Amino acid sequence: MATHEYRIKCQNCGLHYVVLSWDEQWAGAPEHGRRGGFCPECGIPGGKMVWGPVEVEGQIFERVPGHVAVEEINGEKIAVPPSMMITQGPPPGLYGIGSKQRGPYGTNDGDIWDADGSDVQNSMDAREPGKKLIHEVIDGEEKLYVVETDTEFGAETYKRAKAGGPRYMQAQAAQAARDN
Ligand SMILES: [Zn+2]
Repeated sequence: MATHEYRIKCQNCGLHYVVLSWDEQWAGAPEHGRRGGFCPECGIPGGKMVWGPVEVEGQIFERVPGHVAVEEINGEKIAVPPSMMITQGPPPGLYGIGSKQRGPYGTNDGDIWDADGSDVQNSMDAREPGKKLIHEVIDGEEKLYVVETDTEFGAETYKRAKAGGPRYMQAQAAQAARDN
């Protein structure tokens, strides 16, 4: 999966920074994108000069924090993560937005993704076109259900699930990389 890099200059405070996203519409039109997002320095929304998306190789977790080095010590392979600084956030609940702890995509209530490409979905496509298998986390549990895309609810749900698909794949790939 490609990573899209957005090179940004805030027109308010002048900070240069880079945003990495799986979403090629990340900074795009208001109905798709975030209009350049919020500046991490001064906090204003919009008002950005955005270069990109520039497609860069590798997945987001390979660029941030970067490749984990492997060293052999006494015949055992030990993963050595790049050095990083971990900063503390505000106490939970202080500012509302951003203070809520989230797990990897696919573990939080409301996380939703499609099953396109899976064996089950492939055979459903062959037998009952228009029916789509949806994964969604409801009350802390991953639930599976089927929607019909010729209904308004089904079409809307499938659209949301398609948008969540790449996020789920990224989270799974990151998990697999941690486990190796
Ligand atoms: Zn700024």
